[in-house]
This record gives sequence, structure tokens and C-alpha cells, in this order.
Amino acid sequence: MTPIERLLRDQIALGGPVSVAEYMRLCLGHPEYGYYIRRDPLGQGGDFTTAPEISQMFGEMVGLWLASVWRQLDLDGPRLVELGPGRGTLMADALRALRSFGMEPSDVWFVETSPALRAQQHARVPGAQWAEMLEGVPDGPALILANEFFDALPVRQYLHSPEGWRERRVGVIDDRLAWGLSQPLPMTPEAESWCEHSAEADTIARQIAGRMGAHGGAALLIDYGYRQADRPSGPTLQALRNQRPADPLEQPGEADLTWLIDFDWLAAQFPDTQCHHAEQGAFLAGLGMGARAAALAKAQPDQAGAIADALERLTSPAQMGTLFKVLAVTPPGPPPPGF
Ligand code: SAH
Repeated sequence: MTPIERLLRDQIALGGPVSVAEYMRLCLGHPEYGYYIRRDPLGQGGDFTTAPEISQMFGEMVGLWLASVWRQLDLDGPRLVELGPGRGTLMADALRALRSFGMEPSDVWFVETSPALRAQQHARVPGAQWAEMLEGVPDGPALILANEFFDALPVRQYLHSPEGWRERRVGVIDDRLAWGLSQPLPMTPEAESWCEHSAEADTIARQIAGRMGAHGGAALLIDYGYRQADRPSGPTLQALRNQRPADPLEQPGEADLTWLIDFDWLAAQFPDTQCHHAEQGAFLAGLGMGARAAALAKAQPDQAGAIADALERLTSPAQMGTLFKVLAVTPPGPPPPGF
């Protein structure tokens, strides 16, 4: 039994079944045993890999996007902020691209809770500064990035049943962790409109919107998700261990847990700004990733196969090209590149 499961069973014995959000908070963020707190799960040999870890081209395209929005908004050496930066690879690659245009941000801030990952980020982006929450980043115009961040925040799940909305919970049945449902909940506007709701995601999206309104800047939010037209019918929580789907209730604290982001909900959190939607493949292609791949392959012919594979993995609809969505939030004006 994992230490997290022991803690969880004690908690359930005392206070009854817990919400999916409480379960995620414990598995991912427990200060001693949490999945993200103790280890670096990313990369080819880890439990899961992310776009920046697949190829330097991903961060370079994001760097190009930042350069172009920086010029479009005529920002003065803005601050770069990244939420949940993992190993710091995206920021390192984006900074290299920016510097190739002679552009240097005033400073770089990471919002990160994991000490293990902060160490990785420090190695790749020396000079970066850290905050536990976005509120800890000093005021001022900022360009804000987040890749696969929102999907790791604790989410509550509600299932619609004939008796009303019931919240999905984790309890113990026959001495095993098991899914269950709460008694029907009184209708609330939240539960009426959403099957999944993350208070943390709400708060952070509103903080980004508040910052942009008060100080200017833009945000680029990339995640595994969907638009309302393709809304999944069931709850979307999933676990990955050793690059394979796993049972989210097995070995709690030893697997990555994520859910799918509703990008129409996300955009609705930014009422006073302009939201631009794209799928990851179209976004990267629009920024010129095909040409970048060709140039890299020409410079390193022995790597041509790996570069072509990475391009395919990041952009093809069969892989990450359409499953991953991109939301750019900007002040009113022409659409930024890639949209
Ligand atoms: N963006 C990276 C890593 C994605 S994994 C990449 O694309 O490779 C999720 C990241 O979010 C990790 O760095 C994790 O430690 C961080 N994280 C998770 N919950 C967080 C929270 N509540 N506050 C800040 N960071 C968090």
C-alpha cells in the first residue's frame, strides 16, 4: 500500500468518502508523498512526456509567438511567467528563440510547487525566480505561458442522474479504494452547467485575466482538451504510469492524474479580452514548424528521422495535433500568429 493510500484510508475512515478534487490534491500535491513533489515524472523514461520534451521545436515556436506578440503589443521588456513549467525546457527553448531576435525579457518567473521540478528548472533557466502562486509574481505587463498545467489541477466531477446531480467520490468498498456517488446534490448554477469543475482552475484563470486587465500583456494556454461541440459524455479523469493508461485508484501517488480542459469554459474566464482558439497542430504549422524542421534536418542530417518523427508527433491529428488545444488571450486587436 502506498503512503498516500494509507493516509487516504485514514481520512475516509474518519470523514467518509472524498471528492475527486481532494483525491487529486492528495495524490499529486501532498507535501511529502505527492506525485509531483518528490520526483521528475517527465521525459522519455518517465511516466509521461510533454510537447516541450519531445522536441526543441515546440519551445522555439512558442518563442516566435512571444516575440511577435511582444512587438504587436509594443511591450517594454516584459516579464515572462510560466505556470507549472515541468523541467523548464519550454522556457529555455523559447528564451533561446527570443534571444536570436535580440529580445530579452525583464525577468522570468516560474509558478511551481514541486521542489524536485524547481531544481530541474533552475538547471535549464538560471536566473529564473519562483512563486508558489501567480499572486506571488510582481505586478507589471507579462506574457504568461502554461502547457499541460490546468489539466493537473484538482477537479470535482458531477454525474447527472435521474435524482439530480451527484458528486463522484472515492471511498473504500470491500477493503479497496472504489468510486462512488454522493447523495443527490441540490441544484446550484455550477453543478447545473458543468459536469467537471475545478475551483483552482477557476481561480488561476481569473487571476490571469485580472493581471492582464490591470497591467497588460497576453497569455498562451495549451492543454489536452476539447471544445463544447466535442464534449465528452463521461468524466475525464485519467492516470498515466510508465507512459501507459492506468487505473486512477491504483497505487495512488504513483501515477500522473489529469483531466480534459473545456476550452470554451477556459475562454469564458477572460470576458474583457480577446480569445483566439486553435488546435496544436495548426498553431505550430502556422508558426512555421514545418520550415524549422526542414532547416534543422538539413543542419543535422543524422537526426533527420528523429526530427520528422517529432514533427509528426506534435502536429498530426492522429497524435497530439488535434487532441491538444491552444488558447491565446490578448487585448483587442488582430489575431496573433498561429491563429
Ligand atoms: N509544462 C510542463 C510540465 C507539465 S506537468 C511541460 O509541458 O513539460 C504539470 C506541472 O505543473 C508540473 O511542473 C507540476 O509540478 C506543476 N503543478 C501542478 N500543480 C501545481 C500547482 N497547483 N501550482 C503550481 N504548479 C503546479
